Amino acid sequence: MKELTRKRILVTGGAGFLGSHLCERLVTEGHDVLCVDNFYTGTKDNIAHLLDCANFELMRHDVTFPLYVEVDEIYNLACPASPVHYQHDPVQTTKTSVHGAINMLGLAKRVKAKIFQASTSEVYGDALMHPQTEEYWGHVNPIGPRSCYDEGKRCAETLFMDYRRQHGLSIRIARIFNTYGPRMHPADGRVVSNFMMQALQGEPLTLYGDGSQTRSFCYVDDMIDGFIRLMNTADDPNGPVNLGNPHEVSMREIAQRIVVITGSNSPLELHPLPTDDPWHRQPDITRAREWLGWQPRTSLDDGLAATARYFRARIEAGRAKLPDAVASFAAPLAHSST
Ligand code: NAD
Ligand code: UDP
Ligand code: UDP
Repeated sequence: MKELTRKRILVTGGAGFLGSHLCERLVTEGHDVLCVDNFYTGTKDNIAHLLDCANFELMRHDVTFPLYVEVDEIYNLACPASPVHYQHDPVQTTKTSVHGAINMLGLAKRVKAKIFQASTSEVYGDALMHPQTEEYWGHVNPIGPRSCYDEGKRCAETLFMDYRRQHGLSIRIARIFNTYGPRMHPADGRVVSNFMMQALQGEPLTLYGDGSQTRSFCYVDDMIDGFIRLMNTADDPNGPVNLGNPHEVSMREIAQRIVVITGSNSPLELHPLPTDDPWHRQPDITRAREWLGWQPRTSLDDGLAATARYFRARIEAGRAKLPDAVASFAAPLAHSST
């Protein structure tokens, strides 16, 4: 790492699933990383292995309050991401998305930092266009149980675009599709973590609806690669970029694959479909391919196998020994092509 390219980088939500992988990558690249988190859904365990690095700093802070630091780049990831977590305190979710975005944009404006927003495929809602391109405006319920997250993230995108137009900020908006991998919270209620924990513990897999609804799952290493490419792209992209794996699967299929990969005998158990659960989701990643030269490289089976190793280690170690026991399973995968 040359001294000239060493940057001071703020990662909000840095103790979460994606944030911890991003911090790790940026620390490894030699940057000075400031991780800001209020530990709402993230945990110190996720970044424990970075705490001794001279170029890593951890600050407990809630982004809904102003933050005065000096940095060159900001990755704004702070926000609960799983439906169970973001619906637990929906008012706080909207505040984190909207007030958090305003504060981080105000900070970026003052210090002239480039700023990245972790947006979401949820901005498309229960999409009527398939696969979803960035031009699609979405089909979102503004008053339902998912709205705190969907509308909060939509408003954050509006703010990012307006700070660009009004104040000339250099912004990046990633519309992140379902991402999975080591360091997902085992109790966050998301489908991959639920099915993994259930399969590994011999419990029934809780399939919502009839399992024919689809998602497209991206392995975490690929996603972090996309974040960094988007932040580093020389051209200032005028608009959001979808990041995700276009390989679409039904929830029934992902359940069956996880049962096979974990060597489990768990049966599938049908439960009611949650309100406003999107029916289909698949990213059109033409823009990411053309603008960033990015596409996912990890096959679903390889990614699920690595994730299963992580969850198995967590279960075997118990929470107390977590950081040491699982560190090796959270390491980047060797890639095979999809
Ligand atoms: P996560 O819940 O593991 O991480 C979110 C982090 O933000 C946690 O560490 C949490 O403690 C922190 N946080 C929450 N509110 C905060 C606040 N007010 N102030 C400071 N920190 C706060 O979730 P994740 O999967 O790592 O998601 C990270 C980001 O990516 C989120 O913005 C999420 O909306 C977005 N995203 C994730 C996915 C996915 O599949 N993982 C998909 C789309 C978008
Ligand atoms: N802000 C911050 N850190 C900074 C600068 C601003 O947290 O270094 C916050 C501040 O609380 C402000 C918000 O960002 O309310 C928006 O800042 P901006 O300058 O855009 O607007 P204003 O200060 O006029 O509200
Ligand atoms: N899901 C499921 N069983 C679970 C958890 C989720 O069948 O135990 C389904 C859920 O209804 C949705 C899909 O899996 O159709 C993805 O859910 P998740 O909460 O992971 O993410 P999101 O709905 O935000 O894409």
